[in-house]
Amino acid sequence: MNEDKDSLTSEEKTIMPILFLGHGNPMNAIQENEFVEGFRTISKDILKPKAILCISAHWETRGTFVTAMPHPETIHDFGGFPQALFQVQYPAPGSPELAKHVQELITQTTVLADDSWGLDHGAWSVIKHLYPKADIPVVELSIDHNKPASYHYELAKALAPLRQEGVLIIGSGNIVHNLRQVAWDKLNDGSYGYDWAIEANNKVKKAVLEGDHQALINYANMGKSLQLSIPTPEHFIPLIYILALQKDTDSINIFNDKLVGGSLSMTSVMYS
Ligand code: ZN
Repeated sequence: MNEDKDSLTSEEKTIMPILFLGHGNPMNAIQENEFVEGFRTISKDILKPKAILCISAHWETRGTFVTAMPHPETIHDFGGFPQALFQVQYPAPGSPELAKHVQELITQTTVLADDSWGLDHGAWSVIKHLYPKADIPVVELSIDHNKPASYHYELAKALAPLRQEGVLIIGSGNIVHNLRQVAWDKLNDGSYGYDWAIEANNKVKKAVLEGDHQALINYANMGKSLQLSIPTPEHFIPLIYILALQKDTDSINIFNDKLVGGSLSMTSVMYS
């Protein structure tokens, strides 16, 4: 693909990649494993961004909000994990400027400035592996949980100019995410997946590679395996945001493509 990119104009060369990251178990934040290594590896192919805009599965709201504080706190939004995980701090600055810009770009709804959230683990547990120095400002955009995937797809399109402005947009969720079905005893068996989880993951990957956004927006119509794999939408919606920002010139890199515990997929996608 590099040959193709040489023929692009200089403006097109500066378009930032977009990422969908499967975050999985919060323990990935402090563990060394192939997924963490996968995050580090792709970060080497990305120009240092001016700022990051993250759509995390773990910030669901009524209406749409953007974090606007200069110093977002690290939110430990989980329970039952070792103390070491609660001690993790990711002190990346915020960017009130980017927050304001996002408010201006999105006209489909009123995006409200938030000063009480921060960075939830959907954001920091993965971004810390991309940028361990915490020196890139991070802003989060919330997911309006009352709205369907088609609404999020349209809303996300308004963010397209950010790719030309040095902003790295990250959707953090999971394609297959059924916590009720997790085989906790097989969490470290990287080859174990339920048949329906494998099927759903493959169907989603195929649609991603074919650019079939309509199928993915209507994922509930893609069969029983998708319904089992996506029992609630919040971990899938961040992928919808990233799909909406795909350009025809993007190449697609699927990585960390494995299931853990049978019913969680770490499958991640970079468009660049
Ligand atoms: Zn999660």
